[in-house]
This record gives sequence, C-alpha cells and structure tokens, in this order.
Amino acid sequence: MPELKRIAIIGASAAGVAAAFALRRAGFDGHLSLYGDDVREPYERPALTKTLSGGHGGIHPIVAPHTYSDSGIDLQLGQRVVGIRGRTVTLEDWSAQQYDSVLLATGASARRLQVPGARLGNILYLRNADDAERIASRLSTGGPLVVAGGGFVGLEVAAVARGLGIDVTLVESELLPFMRSAGPEVARLVADLHRDHGVRFFTGDRVTEFRGEREVAEARLASGRILPASTVVVGIGAEPNTSLAIGVGAACRGGVLVSAAGQSSVPWLWAAGDLATCSDPHGVTNRSIDHWDSARHQGHAVAHAMLGIATKQAPVPYVWSDQYELTYQSYGRAISGDSVVFREGSQPHQFLAFRVCGDRIHAVSGIGLPREVRAGKVLIEKQSIVDPRALRDPHLDLCNIP
Ligand SMILES: Cc1cc2nc3c(=O)[nH]c(=O)nc-3n(C[C@H](O)[C@H](O)[C@H](O)COP(=O)(O)OP(=O)(O)OC[C@H]3O[C@@H](n4cnc5c(N)ncnc54)[C@H](O)[C@@H]3O)c2cc1C
Repeated sequence: MPELKRIAIIGASAAGVAAAFALRRAGFDGHLSLYGDDVREPYERPALTKTLSGGHGGIHPIVAPHTYSDSGIDLQLGQRVVGIRGRTVTLEDWSAQQYDSVLLATGASARRLQVPGARLGNILYLRNADDAERIASRLSTGGPLVVAGGGFVGLEVAAVARGLGIDVTLVESELLPFMRSAGPEVARLVADLHRDHGVRFFTGDRVTEFRGEREVAEARLASGRILPASTVVVGIGAEPNTSLAIGVGAACRGGVLVSAAGQSSVPWLWAAGDLATCSDPHGVTNRSIDHWDSARHQGHAVAHAMLGIATKQAPVPYVWSDQYELTYQSYGRAISGDSVVFREGSQPHQFLAFRVCGDRIHAVSGIGLPREVRAGKVLIEKQSIVDPRALRDPHLDLCNIP
C-alpha cells in the first residue's frame, strides 16, 4: 500500500467525524482535513427533533470543539467541496488541495416531494440544524400541521408537535406508518401510540398537491381529501449525496458502491455512512443502514481499512427513536421469512418484538423496555439458542438465557 501522507474526509457528521478520530487513534500522523459545508461544529443529528419544541437543547456537538485541533484534525467548516479531480479536492472558492486518499462521508439529503405547489412557503424538511430551527419557529405559531411521511422523522415531528398541543395529521402511502422500518406488527403498535396521543392518520393515501397564496394553506390527497395546513413537514426519506463520487467516475447504485471495507470502484476513494452502499461478493447490494450508530461504526471501520488495518466484525446494528416520553429501540437485522414473537410490557405501549428464525434471534425491538432490548442484543451477539415460545413470557429474564 502506498504511503499515505494526506487524507481528506468530506462530510463532517457521524461517519466523517468518527473516521477522523479513528485515523488519528490508529496512528495516522499525516495531514488530515475534515470538510463540512455546515458552519456549525459537527452536531448529533438525532437530537435535532428536541430543538423543535422551541428550546436549543437539541444541538449537541459530537465532540468538544477543541478536540479537533488537539488531535491535529484540520476541521474546515462552512466549506463545500464542489469537485474532486485526480485526488484534488476543490472548494466553492476554487481553492484546491491535493490528497493521497479521499473518504466521502457526505451523507444524504431529504428527498423532495414533487407535486404541484411544493414550493409554497412553510413546506419544510428536516435534515440539519437550520431546518430544525425553521420548523421550531413554525410550530411556535401553532397548527394545523400536516406531516407527509410516517417514517422516523415524520413520527418524531408528529410527537413533538402533539406535545405542543398542535393539531397533527399524518399522511402515509403505506397502510401503516413506520412499516418499512419495522414491519406491520410493530408498526401497528407504534401507530396506536400516536393515535392515543391524538395524531390523525390517513394511510394508503398520498399528498398530490399543495394549495395556498404564497404560503401553504391546504394539502390535497389522492383520495380527494383536503387537509387544512399552516405548516407541512415532509419526511419521505433521503437521497444519498453521490454527486462528488459520480464526478470521479465511482460506481453508484442507490449510493456509492463500496466493498465490505468501504473502498469504492476508484481505489483511492472510500465512502462511509448514509452515502455508502455495500455490495457483497455475490454482487448483491445492501443499502447501508441509515442510522447514526451504523454511520459512526462505518466511519471507524473504513478509517482502519484505509490504513490497511483489518476490521473487526461489525457490531449488531442499533437504531433508536424518541417518541413522546418513550424510546423505540431496535438491534439486529430481520430477514424476510423471520417470524415475530411479541412480549407485552406491564405499562401501556410497552412491548418487545423478537424476529426469530428457528431457535435464533435475528433482531429485537421494543418500546419502553430498554433493559430487555439490550438483553436481546446480547442474545443476538452470542447467537444463543432460544425457545421462541418462552420469549413471550414476561417472567423470563432474558439475561438468564445462556
Ligand atoms: C432529524 C433526524 C433525526 C434522526 N434521528 C435518528 C435517531 O434517532 N436514531 C438514529 O439512529 N438515526 C437517526 N437519524 C439518522 C442519522 O442522523 C443519520 O443516519 C446519520 O447522520 C448519517 O451520518 P453520515 O455521517 O453518513 O451523514 P450526515 O449526517 O448526513 O452528514 C453528512 C455531512 O456531509 C455534509 N456534506 C454533504 N455534501 C458536502 C460537500 N460537498 N462538502 C462538504 N460537506 C458536505 C452535510 O452537510 C452533512 O453535514 C436521524 C436523522 C435526521 C435527519
């Protein structure tokens, strides 16, 4: 492997920041640039929904600001990389720097809803701190709020808005919100949680048009329903930011295609986080798990791979989402054909759902039962042999399963 003296990381969030510190910890002592187009110190995106209720407590730096310079990381904030050519990285002001290797960690952008009226005022998206502040400012004026999309972002926004007493209607094209992330069984329970908090759902339906003067006044649905709206938040997924990778000719398919180590089809170009799509030895592509923990781990692992250090086995994927006073957590990866075993908790809305194949657990998720979900994770890690029927028993302490 040629000696690496200069590395650029583009994108200063979960994956990029984790990669930068992992490179230093692994002994890389060359020049290390970390470019981020956001002007703020890198912050934790999952906490952004907390800013929506009007406080500023949701902008949490990933690490204390001085840590970058202490570790010799040249953090360049408010610097958008506009092109990469022959390992030369070009910024918006046309200044250019040459590197030996480049790690792309540019993440994803909120997918836009392409319907008539989509450019009216107060139709908002949530991906960064500025977006969160815009939504917070709108929610402070009251409702009605229409949320388009019942995934993680849509449901979290709905929960915060209900907490503020705002009238919320959520429109979801699937038959249940949260179904793509959690499957129908869990989605049904999550929908009940939101209904009990007063969220109105129109499922199996979609927004086809917005109307209003300069600002949105109503959302029209495929079913013909008309929903009054003073604010709309659209949460219909994210598109990986692949333009830089495409510019250097790296193969992309629903993200930058990378090997298990994170290397793209251009040998000096690597990718990690929401941007990356891994292709297994059989050519089957697996979208990366678009979540904070997974992006951090990928950043760490790719940094090691860039230095030629063998990567440890990836940890069990972890996803969480704060909704009302409860936290949804999920460990592992369900596989099509897994059966679902439920366990109810003692409080309303508490549950555990195990995805089981034979006598092995592939994934565990739950609301309001963090200890049990963590115990389930350990069973996945140990590949413990379980009796699926016993998992239903609320008296069975999962920590006692060998
Ligand atoms: C509102 C919200 C809530 C979330 N909540 C949760 C949660 O509760 N749990 C969970 O597990 N996950 C959650 N996620 C998902 C999680 O935040 C993402 O999976 C994670 O941030 C991905 O990290 P990343 O580093 O790959 O990309 P990103 O976090 O998207 O970061 C990419 C960075 O690159 C920058 N960038 C892009 N292009 C350029 C360029 N050309 N030049 C310079 N910089 C560039 C971007 O501005 C951005 O700062 C949430 C996401 C959002 C938006």
